[in-house]
Amino acid sequence: MMLKDSKFSSHLLHLSQLQTINHKTLDEYRDRLKTYEDYLWFGKPDRISAIECARRGWTCQNNDLIKCANCHAEIIAQLPSVLNIHEYTERVENIAQALVDAHHRYCVWKFMIIPESVIQLTDIYSNETINKFVKEAEEFLLQIQQIDLVGQLKTTFQIEATDFDLLSSSYLNDPRLLSAFKILVFYWKLKGSSLSCEKCCREISINRNHLILDPIASHRTWCPILKNEQWKKRIEQIETILHAKSRHKLGEIQSINDHTERILPDIISTQNLFHELISSKEYYRSCVQSTYVDNTPSSELEHSTNNSKST
Ligand SMILES: [Zn+2]
Ligand SMILES: [Zn+2]
Repeated sequence: MMLKDSKFSSHLLHLSQLQTINHKTLDEYRDRLKTYEDYLWFGKPDRISAIECARRGWTCQNNDLIKCANCHAEIIAQLPSVLNIHEYTERVENIAQALVDAHHRYCVWKFMIIPESVIQLTDIYSNETINKFVKEAEEFLLQIQQIDLVGQLKTTFQIEATDFDLLSSSYLNDPRLLSAFKILVFYWKLKGSSLSCEKCCREISINRNHLILDPIASHRTWCPILKNEQWKKRIEQIETILHAKSRHKLGEIQSINDHTERILPDIISTQNLFHELISSKEYYRSCVQSTYVDNTPSSELEHSTNNSKST
């Protein structure tokens, strides 16, 4: 990652002691990131975003002013109006260059950069990851009483406890646990009586008796979780895993009774299986029930299935 990122990569090879990004280095990076308050580092483009500056050793000191704690170099980063596009672009380019060049020639940050992997979000691609979040959610609940989620997530992330229960694991049947889960998957960590995001380092003081949170909008505007709507992709990843799980469950049911085979493929083939199942939960339930109590002669069932196909 470092090699890809820095045009000083040839120097990096000689600075092997710096290549190990240890906990201290990461903590210091997060401390730097915290200094980029929205009102101090406002409206900066990606090239000179808070993250890009903090990755290269810069701490925000004041309005549009950043400083290297190591070599004490400073950069003033006032930008002209975006309407003046030529001047604006040139200035941004100069500042981006200064993030490397302005360090003293012997400053480590001239050659070092916090690797991109620290900023990138980790994909959720397995049951294990989901279970890890559930475990963390259980621990979270030991410290928090009531949870109310607000904001877009209420309508966008519609896994209800009962759906989880029906489709996958039976132990996610507690709405509180589900809320905690929906907080933790978006990189919030509980530290004492505040929540902080691992990626943008936003810290929020909370009431542990009653936590009211918008797990998305509470991130800083430049948080990687908001960038390119990454949070939506995260929801999709979780849903995909649940699809797979529910598909597996349906497969089991299918093997119990042949009758279901004639009804379920319609659902299974649907791309958005999970939503489909939730919206037709009653239908699903009736399918499950029919596995056990259905007395319909198979010829009749076939008849009705054919009918529904022809419409
Ligand atoms: Zn420096
Ligand atoms: Zn964040």
